[in-house]
Amino acid sequence: MTAESLHSVGDLVGAGLVSPDERDTLNRVASRYAVALTPTVRGLIDPSDPADPIALQYVPTAAELIETTDERADPIGDHAHSPVEGIVHRYPDRVLLKVVHVCPVYCRFCFRREMVGPQGDGSLTPGQLENAIRYIASHAEIWEVILTGGDPLILSPRRLRDIMTALAAIPHVSIVRIHSRVPAVDPQRISPELIDALKASGKTVFVALHANHPREMSQPVRDACTRLVDAGIAMVSQSVLLKGINDDPEVLAELMRTFVEARVKPYYLHHPDMAPGTGHFRLSLAEGQAIMKALRSKVSGLCIPTYILDLPGGHGKVSVGDGMLSEIEPGRYAVLDRHNALHHYP
Ligand code: SF4
Repeated sequence: MTAESLHSVGDLVGAGLVSPDERDTLNRVASRYAVALTPTVRGLIDPSDPADPIALQYVPTAAELIETTDERADPIGDHAHSPVEGIVHRYPDRVLLKVVHVCPVYCRFCFRREMVGPQGDGSLTPGQLENAIRYIASHAEIWEVILTGGDPLILSPRRLRDIMTALAAIPHVSIVRIHSRVPAVDPQRISPELIDALKASGKTVFVALHANHPREMSQPVRDACTRLVDAGIAMVSQSVLLKGINDDPEVLAELMRTFVEARVKPYYLHHPDMAPGTGHFRLSLAEGQAIMKALRSKVSGLCIPTYILDLPGGHGKVSVGDGMLSEIEPGRYAVLDRHNALHHYP
């Protein structure tokens, strides 16, 4: 993040991204949900387009003040599975390690929007981090540690190196996965020092890149991916299916192809979570399945992510697929092929 990042409604007015008339309303939004746009993101926005898919992801709107009764502050139930501060242990062989609660940008649809940002849960203290590492070391079933937050790659290379070195000393941890928007929103941050720090664990390291629109995969972003992959760091993608941004099979096909060309394997396409004030981004599961079905008919299998619903209440992820298969009686299925012809199986 640089001094030129935009952090307030005043900054957005100054940059011509919102009208001065919206200042009071948007200040109400910003007092609850953090705002930040990096220079990279700002440079991608066309201020003359009211439906710009990059602006819609990062620039606050009055729609965020509308909440529905189904929405909740902790939509995927992190708190229900947090044995010690900073750890979420929902599945036996893996944990989330939430090292930091700030991000270089704040996405308007964020599922952790009540926890991230300057007004959020704060960052782990050194003592809490030590405690979290001790928890991982004392649970031999933990095969994978997922660094998340917030955005872990906002930390300095020195702090990242400390965390990776602590994980290096835990023999049963084989995989370290890092969830980040940084390669897409601040690609210059992917420096040789940062890459060296990520490799300090000696484990197999994955970076899961969060991007939602093909315009986010500009040349500097692809170059950042190249630096990571050439250094031996595997990459997968995570995207959120968002109304008005990427709820179009053509847009998703371009995004997924761009990922694959950058050696980022499409991994998850998330159905939007029930985070407060995000109803304007949500589409129905049936609409999502129809989009997945159309995507499948367009692109190589390499370009197909798993369409995922994170069940509210901490019950975990389920693949919701493309609606092309349904059980019509026990053990017997109706399956649609890509031409919409119906087959029975077996
Ligand atoms: S970068 Fe991730 S954690 Fe941060 S605001 Fe966006 S979705 Fe939320």
